[in-house]
Amino acid sequence: MEKRQELYRGKAKTVYATDDPNTLVMHYRDDVSAFDGTKVAQLAQKGETNNRFNAYVMGRLAAAGIRSHFIRVLNERESLVKAMKMLPVECVVRNVVAGSMAKRYGIAEGTTLPEPIFEFFLKSDALHDPLVNDDHIRILGWATAHEIGEMKALTHKVNDVLKPLFAHAGITLVDYKLEFGHPTDDLRGVLVLGDEFTPDGCRLWDAQSGEKMDKDRFRRDLGDVIPKYREVATRIGVPL
Ligand code: UDP
Repeated sequence: MEKRQELYRGKAKTVYATDDPNTLVMHYRDDVSAFDGTKVAQLAQKGETNNRFNAYVMGRLAAAGIRSHFIRVLNERESLVKAMKMLPVECVVRNVVAGSMAKRYGIAEGTTLPEPIFEFFLKSDALHDPLVNDDHIRILGWATAHEIGEMKALTHKVNDVLKPLFAHAGITLVDYKLEFGHPTDDLRGVLVLGDEFTPDGCRLWDAQSGEKMDKDRFRRDLGDVIPKYREVATRIGVPL
């Protein structure tokens, strides 16, 4: 595999082409951003931590039959992934009320939900990722009814695997965001999980103390962001 030109530079990762049009190199940088890219910083060891974290979680999901774009780790900061045509929506599942849901409905952060709640958001920094429903997505052509059903089922299935994984380490999986797409070598096949699963895109609270161990530490200036990501990693068994 030969790494070629830079294709896309996101807020925390850079994507490179390879000599195979159906695979890409995903490079995890030390950059962190919040509030639609308006708050940014660099955090030592973030790239390598998230690369390892994501590889471990994708491996656990694969073992449970959930396919993702992850192929293998290449080096400290890079993984080989399938090239994907991504759907322009974000899928959120919440086990506990926090963040935008707490604000939107005026419900106290930390309220445990009797069942997980699923939400769709449109991917658009310019519009601040608005909440959208199935009709918006289907009728405006962002995904088909079938894809909507698959995204919901897969996002819930991820909860069935990851909620107990974190719980066994004494950590509550409060909520998380997933993105899906079709691998470019199989555009009509089943949807596959893309992007990443790291503490950048989920909320993780210590089950005993309630301490935040995810990107809210950066959003809310709590300090020790990467040391806490690494503590989560160690507790769930990620080889760092
Ligand atoms: N999330 C994310 N990227 C986004 C928006 C949300 O990774 O662009 C994650 C966020 O870290 C949290 C979950 O999705 O784990 C739910 O986020 P929420 O809707 O509460 O938004 P926030 O208040 O975090 O912006």
